[in-house]
Amino acid sequence: MNFVRRLWHRRRARRTRAPFPEAWFSTLREDVAHYALLDEDERARLRRCVAAFVSEKHWEGCGGLHIDDRIRVVIAAQACYLAMGLAHDAYRRLKSILVYPSAWVDPRGRKGFDGLDTSSPRLGEAWPHGPVILSWRDAQRAGRRIEHGRNVVFHEFAHHLDMSDAMHSTGSHDVLQRAYRTHVEQTRLGRTTLLDPYGATNEIEFFAVATECFFERPAHLRNDDPHLYEMLRRCYRQDPARREEAIDRTGT
Ligand SMILES: [Zn+2]
Repeated sequence: MNFVRRLWHRRRARRTRAPFPEAWFSTLREDVAHYALLDEDERARLRRCVAAFVSEKHWEGCGGLHIDDRIRVVIAAQACYLAMGLAHDAYRRLKSILVYPSAWVDPRGRKGFDGLDTSSPRLGEAWPHGPVILSWRDAQRAGRRIEHGRNVVFHEFAHHLDMSDAMHSTGSHDVLQRAYRTHVEQTRLGRTTLLDPYGATNEIEFFAVATECFFERPAHLRNDDPHLYEMLRRCYRQDPARREEAIDRTGT
């Protein structure tokens, strides 16, 4: 390990050893529904990740939004939930999180990374070697409710992890391509699909949309496409459908 990495590890250890603020506990319990799905060990790991993520990233409010700890913790907790099975420095290339109060339109009319026109309001963006940008209203909604298989925070951070190659295993691309082609076909035929039709935009969007469903409606996805589920389980090194079953068994 070189000197810079050793220094980074020492700083990270110091940050994660500091006591987790009581107000942040409340935020996790009240504003991050996914926190309740975790067992005690996983909760402790998530808190360490949140503490590091909040302090290591540069946070910036846009469109007049004042960034406070609740915003930082709600977004960090969802980002860390996604990466819980990955190396603890999975987000090391990500420097900044920009947050708008709600959906925004790019003032310069640039195209988003997904190539879509930005004249329509955006809820989130992720840029290679650049920031993740989110609408606070939608990030907050995503944290509070696990429902429709949609989560803008998971979506954008999945783009970041995808772009940084933090987790790809051999063979995953074939499974992804096959699932993507099926999804495009179903969408073209106007069929109702478990995954958001937006996933038919391109393979990059498909991966992000599939990630949302994998964490938000895991048992449904496992029934619908076991190969895609298995591929994502290997990518993220998490098994959210089993987590869901364990909760159903204990009734908590
Ligand atoms: Zn996207």
